[in-house]
Amino acid sequence: MTGTREQTPPATDAGTAACAAAFLKGQEITTTGCGRCGTEISGVNGRYACGNCGWVNHWSEGHTELPAYDPVGDFPMDEPPST
Ligand SMILES: [Zn+2]
Repeated sequence: MTGTREQTPPATDAGTAACAAAFLKGQEITTTGCGRCGTEISGVNGRYACGNCGWVNHWSEGHTELPAYDPVGDFPMDEPPST
């Protein structure tokens, strides 16, 4: 094997990189024992998902507030679905 590895493409522009850095600055990697199987797992801001057994903790156990649901924007609700 020659071992050539694909490189991760750089951020498309400085604005994108700055937004990503600002987002990541507010994240904290935390560690706990899985609530089901006891495996040590890491998560972000107190929110965990176990890759061993599939256990996840409740969203309200996180250390930070989640962003509020904003119904304006992503899914227009003024038209009934057409099937
Ligand atoms: Zn587990």
